[in-house]
Amino acid sequence: MTNYNFHTHTYHCKHALGAPKDYCQAALAKGLTALGFSDHAPHPDGKWDAVRMDISELDTYFQEIHQCQALFPRLHIHPGLECEYRPDLGDFQKDNFLQTPGRCEYMALAIHDFINLQGEWTSSWRLHDTRQYLEYARFAVQGMSSGLYKFVVHPDLFFVGGGAWDDNAALASKLIAEAASALNIPLEINASGAHRPLITDLGGKIRRPFPHLNFWEVVAHYEVRVVISVDAHRPDDLGDVSDAEALARYFDFHVVTEEELFGQPN
Ligand SMILES: [Zn+2]
Ligand SMILES: [Zn+2]
Repeated sequence: MTNYNFHTHTYHCKHALGAPKDYCQAALAKGLTALGFSDHAPHPDGKWDAVRMDISELDTYFQEIHQCQALFPRLHIHPGLECEYRPDLGDFQKDNFLQTPGRCEYMALAIHDFINLQGEWTSSWRLHDTRQYLEYARFAVQGMSSGLYKFVVHPDLFFVGGGAWDDNAALASKLIAEAASALNIPLEINASGAHRPLITDLGGKIRRPFPHLNFWEVVAHYEVRVVISVDAHRPDDLGDVSDAEALARYFDFHVVTEEELFGQPN
């Protein structure tokens, strides 16, 4: 069984419950040996701040995680943030999150919004026109190419709006898979997505919003490693990864280990 979770939120983002210590206790109770915190990273201009911590909370957030490292020595705890790709904020994220001592050991990349061909921010949640899938994919590849992020969370989020599987969907999936392979960046099979209720998409196909099996079938043609994690927004969410593991087994994906992602623990 996957013995880690590297996609963990906290109360700081305003839409999750529990402090880092609550997640650590739950992780140990579920038999996990490693826990990575990846709460939604703040932006200096306050963009999308309804669903992320305020920048003034960063120190508290990391202090709480460091306290857990002392309180739960049996758990390997990795401090991190789930970051949106903002082309204007690459240096900001690098300087303030990765290179400031005592902050991030890793940043995970999420594309909840992307810049479309007209230069406008567009939500990834409501895409119906599959041409937008290509815009999402190109933006995701730009983010992956920045070299800032350790892995990509829910790379197939763009299917959540219920669009059809077509040539654009296949090409968007291929662009992401090719980049993950060339850049050697693992893609996350989002274990919480794997329990979402089924939908009938615009192509008449019954499927999960994500993970999208056709997406992963494309990915399976490439040398791509996967991370399995629950997008934990409640301590109780941790540990429930059987559906994501079944998907990884079916496609024979290499599931990265903690050591492969972070190196040997000290
Ligand atoms: Zn969230
Ligand atoms: Zn998340």
